[in-house]
Amino acid sequence: MPGALLIGDTAGLLNVPKIKGTHQGDPQRHARRRAPTAAGALEPAGFDAKLRASDAMAELKQVRNIKPGFKKGLWFGLTNAAWETALGGASPWTLKGKADWSSLDRAGEHEQPRRDYLERSLAPRDRLQGVYFAATEHDEDQPVHLKVADTSICVERCTAEYANPCTRFCPAGVYEMVEDDAGRRLQINAANCVHCKTCDIKDPYEIITWVTPEGGSGPNYQNL
Ligand code: SF4
Repeated sequence: MPGALLIGDTAGLLNVPKIKGTHQGDPQRHARRRAPTAAGALEPAGFDAKLRASDAMAELKQVRNIKPGFKKGLWFGLTNAAWETALGGASPWTLKGKADWSSLDRAGEHEQPRRDYLERSLAPRDRLQGVYFAATEHDEDQPVHLKVADTSICVERCTAEYANPCTRFCPAGVYEMVEDDAGRRLQINAANCVHCKTCDIKDPYEIITWVTPEGGSGPNYQNL
């Protein structure tokens, strides 16, 4: 992004087989990659090229295929991880993942799972209790930060094809399909949002866009 610099763990530099990334995300190491200006200030110019040429990227290149391998199943993932480890990442290919939303199957393709075998007596169990524990806070009258490009798709196509998965995958009960005098419609309880961004990546029509809410509001997990 022109004018923006992602540093620290925000840049997503986790070494998956080591389950370790703090040494890559260390802001001080990142700071050293920024080119000093004539005035001695640290500027982001050239940071991207420096990061790509750095030892951090060389380390991540060796393990780039390990996580995507597990998308094809546990046994493939384990075999692939052993192969990549033995070769030190020298495979001539780079495995690609696919978009999260593309893994959704259509409604009716599977049997409803049995869920009655589990005792559900321990609190918290419902999603609004989870929202309470997340201490999420938004001004009720602030602009909705979840932009749905075309809600008629939710009411018509999505109901028939995917049975409105947003009403289930959202951990905060933000999306509800409600019936009122105006008919069936999507209701967005944006003030409950805990900023997980699942809806942005999992919606099968890619019509939901999560934007940064006004005024730095959102969840506060310090009491979790
Ligand atoms: S980001 Fe989306 S899925 Fe996550 S809590 Fe907010 S509305 Fe729900």
